Amino acid sequence: MKTIPSPAKTPNRRSKNHRSQTLPAHGNGHGSPGNGHGPRSEVVAWLSRPKHNLIAGRWVPSIAGNLFDVLNPADASVLCRVPEGRAEDVDRAVRAARQAFESGPWRRMTPSERGKLLWRVGDLLLKHADEFAELESLDNGKPKAVARVADVPLAADLFHYMAGWATKVEGNTIPISVPYAPGARFHAFTLREPVGVVGQIIPWNFPLLMAAWKLGPALTTGNCVVLKPAEQTPLSALRLGELLPEAGIPEGVVNIVTGFGETAGAALAAHPGVDKLAFTGSTEVGRAIVRAAAGNLKKVSLELGGKSPNIVFKDAGDLEVAISGAANAIFFNHGQCCCAGSRLLVEREIFDDVVAGVAERAKKIKLGPGLSEETQMGPLVSEEQLARVTHFLDQGKADGACYVTGGGRVGDRGYFIQPTVIKNVRPEMSIVRDEIFGPVVVAEPFSGVEDLLSRANATEYGLAAGIWTRDVSKAHRVAAELRAGTVWINCYNVFDAALPFGGYKQSGWGREMGHEVLEHYSETKAVVIGL
Ligand code: ADP
Repeated sequence: MKTIPSPAKTPNRRSKNHRSQTLPAHGNGHGSPGNGHGPRSEVVAWLSRPKHNLIAGRWVPSIAGNLFDVLNPADASVLCRVPEGRAEDVDRAVRAARQAFESGPWRRMTPSERGKLLWRVGDLLLKHADEFAELESLDNGKPKAVARVADVPLAADLFHYMAGWATKVEGNTIPISVPYAPGARFHAFTLREPVGVVGQIIPWNFPLLMAAWKLGPALTTGNCVVLKPAEQTPLSALRLGELLPEAGIPEGVVNIVTGFGETAGAALAAHPGVDKLAFTGSTEVGRAIVRAAAGNLKKVSLELGGKSPNIVFKDAGDLEVAISGAANAIFFNHGQCCCAGSRLLVEREIFDDVVAGVAERAKKIKLGPGLSEETQMGPLVSEEQLARVTHFLDQGKADGACYVTGGGRVGDRGYFIQPTVIKNVRPEMSIVRDEIFGPVVVAEPFSGVEDLLSRANATEYGLAAGIWTRDVSKAHRVAAELRAGTVWINCYNVFDAALPFGGYKQSGWGREMGHEVLEHYSETKAVVIGL
């Protein structure tokens, strides 16, 4: 997600003195300053109940008993408080996962039974889709309507897709020759077995969807899990945890510990009882995870940052479509996407038109709290993130870039930032090199395919790229040359549970989703029988 340390990143930066407040079901409540849209009553009731960690099928307070505030980024009010899990809580959760893996019913279940339980998780998410959409909106800041049509159905679909794989993770029979044993005969085959106890650390940009991306493949292959949601957005994972027993997932198979990255996350990454660690987040933290995982050489998969080029050729056809696509590529989810099209590369002849078009769209985006129906873009997730993005914006100005639109904070309540389009940039500027993780796009002109490719690939990241052209041959040629895990042609931000997603270069190790992800959650055992 990002490359530089944030200005105020410590576990203690949140006030511990906030008192939890009760949310009104309607009216000008938290999450809806002055707009008349409050959360639904079941969300209000859920928020007001005490929050615990899920360990061995029971909801328990953290061992030290500490809690931290979960804030609504639209107005910085306290939504609720959740346990501040630390190393001892992580240890307890890892032991519970081990116990469930070694001696619980999970491993004795048939793949078909396991698949049916996962399918039910997907069904339950859809049953509670409105509630999850609201919770996600309150916690993360994204528009409720977006969470309702994207985050929640995608999460449900991930469980449904992975449910089908439970019965299809197969080994092979292998004809072996064994040259040093002439005349001997063997029957050889491979088994695919779960890795064991999996630690999963997820970010705050798509809290529920990231939980689904992680849990779905781990569970369909028969692993047991300790999940640590991001400290900024732990709520939908906790709510999801309540649905798991309802779906029939046995106790201890999924354990959830809320807490800070530097404490709970670091403890999970380093824990010797964890066989595999899956992480989505910043490249900087990804490196720390790898170092921590080295202790017991646990297997690691990483989905990290990006600075993805979105390329518009002059033969893009209908420029309005390409312009809308470019705006969506950067402004979707407030630019808080690891695959955001944050570098807009436009063929020189149409550069001014495309940049003006994207800027026009940026100016029209309606900012507001996520629960308001008119809102098209909510606040950034946290004060820390607001400080990061404004730091980059200030740096870009100091470096002499030209701000076509945007460039600063909106208001002084909540963490709102203007959708921003920047041009006249140079390759060495931090706004061009670093992942900003906000609604900020830098635009550069290019002349011809060679110039384009050297610019597009001039990044340490390699997560995604977009190409807009009607020339099919050129689209294929350029797609093949781009060093990125996903290339979208005449579209952007197209995701599906069946489509592998992950990065080249410093954007990560391994893939999420599709059948590729199953490799990361299973061990291959070769079995040889002398006949
Ligand atoms: P961001 O800075 O954008 O919040 P991070 O990469 O820091 O992204 O966070 C992603 C996830 O990684 C969160 O769940 C966070 O708690 C966790 N995390 C942060 N630092 C560490 C760490 N040192 N070890 C393990 N997990 C961490």
